Amino acid sequence: MHIAVLGCGQLARMMALAGLPMGMTFSFLSENNEDTAPVAGLGPITAMDESLTSSELYEALGKPDVVTVEREQCSLVPLKRLAEHCAVHPNPQAIYQCQNREREKQLLITCQVPHTPFVSVASAADLHKAVSELGYPLVVKHTEQGYDGKAQWRLYDDKGVENFIADAHFELQSDQAVPYVAEPFMDFEREVSFIGVRAANGEVRFYPATENVHKSGVLLHSVAPAPQLSSELIATGQAGLKAILEHLDYVGVMAMECFVTSDQLWVNELAPRVHNSGHWTMHCGVVSQFENHMRAIAGWPLGSTNLQGAAAMLNLLGVELNQASQLQDDVALDWYNKSVRPGRKLGHLVLTDESPAAALARLQPLKQKVYGAD
Ligand code: AMP
Repeated sequence: MHIAVLGCGQLARMMALAGLPMGMTFSFLSENNEDTAPVAGLGPITAMDESLTSSELYEALGKPDVVTVEREQCSLVPLKRLAEHCAVHPNPQAIYQCQNREREKQLLITCQVPHTPFVSVASAADLHKAVSELGYPLVVKHTEQGYDGKAQWRLYDDKGVENFIADAHFELQSDQAVPYVAEPFMDFEREVSFIGVRAANGEVRFYPATENVHKSGVLLHSVAPAPQLSSELIATGQAGLKAILEHLDYVGVMAMECFVTSDQLWVNELAPRVHNSGHWTMHCGVVSQFENHMRAIAGWPLGSTNLQGAAAMLNLLGVELNQASQLQDDVALDWYNKSVRPGRKLGHLVLTDESPAAALARLQPLKQKVYGAD
């Protein structure tokens, strides 16, 4: 079974590291001069060249049986070309729906999944409408650019709105998509994510919901199962994600990020791929999200998503590899082989314990060791 992955970052790396022991082989398609260091040594790397015909691209990638992606912010052109020759999972239409924040919200409406309220913004008048409907503070997000909190603006008053309008680019995006969505600033109690996997035969499984803490829009740490998440909200989240997976006829892993207020779940974002908040699955005696994604897209049976006890994950953001502090007896390290830059996701640590509280209690000193006191 030969798999081609669009993208050469850490998610491509971890998918390959999960697939190689099952006898899969890999090749990688790089775009826009991206850093390919994370997948070095795991299979041949082909640079995207729009002039290649669909057969040339298929052959350059070693005639894959299946093509998958490590990110939704990608060109659909090579995926559609490759779909003429082999399976592409998730399917390009699913990626299309999720790679634009406004289309993603329309998908949530179609599937009747509770989501953060929003107003589509293609003009100054739309932004004024958003202020009157949603109030301040307002969070404005570009529909097609940015991840990890980038290409987002917080507007606190009329002055902020006028400044934004002066700088905004209200040109329509791909397929006449609007450039921005505006949301209210959500006064959430916590953030959680649901990770589900759908097999080729339609079977859907979920990992335990995970609670996530972000710093400046970037995931810092996760704990699973999410403490204090009621069984009603877990059921709501899983039903919503299942509806989306079925609506899209999706095969593979999808993550759904949510805000939680006292009695409600609000979906913030979908990720049509394996997800950072599921990295703990690699070291917890379950079949990891990476392995299950590979099993799903290959048409193979899924593996267990049941976690015994609890797990915590700490992202290594902009810190040097330091075996002395990071390789502890009861902590697993994954390092992505990227060069160190401030804030960059370079690796992560995972620990397991008998309860989320116990895992969190051990995460705190680990965090201090890695980042120093707050
Ligand atoms: P996103 O790029 O939409 O995943 O946003 C990154 C992070 O910014 C989220 O995980 C939240 O911590 C924060 N955030 C995004 N949208 C909102 C919002 N409407 N209200 C409050 N915080 C938000």
